[in-house]
Amino acid sequence: PEQLIGIYGASGFGREVMPIARENLLIDGCELVFIDDNPEASEVNGVSVLSYQEFLERKAEVKKVSVAIANAKVRREIEMRCYADGIEPLSIYSSNRVVLDQVNIGPACILCPFVTLTSNITIGHSFHANLYSYVAHDCKIGDYVTFAPSVKCNGNIVIEDFAYIGTGAIIKQGKPGQPIVIGKGATVGMGAVVTKSVAPGSVVIGNPARPL
Ligand code: UDP
Repeated sequence: PEQLIGIYGASGFGREVMPIARENLLIDGCELVFIDDNPEASEVNGVSVLSYQEFLERKAEVKKVSVAIANAKVRREIEMRCYADGIEPLSIYSSNRVVLDQVNIGPACILCPFVTLTSNITIGHSFHANLYSYVAHDCKIGDYVTFAPSVKCNGNIVIEDFAYIGTGAIIKQGKPGQPIVIGKGATVGMGAVVTKSVAPGSVVIGNPARPL
């Protein structure tokens, strides 16, 4: 093929991302495959699963990868290895995402179905926004941030690199010049209601969210 596209990770999230990739990339000369280091089958949902070595050995004019693995540290390691081997980063956006005004999104991001990003938002590298999540006005999202489904990230919030926000969490809106900050590598538990800033590396749960 002219373009060989790898969705890295053939497990749960990868199987959700593959059809979105297919909808984006159903063009002549483009082949889609899974890449997995621990494959359970040679084919998943009708798509070939290659080892990374097999992906490298396949001939194609251009190779691109999207790492569909929720664990951000694993994601970063895999991406760095791929980029060092000359594979290009690929972003995958569901066609029914809603993206409004002045939204700046870095490379290698995944926007799942029903994700909404409103206005005046900056997003770094390899952001995963799972189903139904939203990011409201004047937010800044770092690199390798992961949103599980239905995260409600209101206005004037800063989310630092490697933070993980669990399903259904709600983050209260900050104020202009005084954002609520979710610190680097922090984890916000499922359903948490975050009303103030969260320290880097900490885990918060509950309503109102408190450190575990
Ligand atoms: N995986 C991989 N290389 C790694 C780590 C994980 O290929 O270094 C694969 C793993 O074999 C599995 C998938 O990525 O198929 C991760 O699946 P998991 O269910 O853990 O995560 P999710 O799909 O929910 O992100």
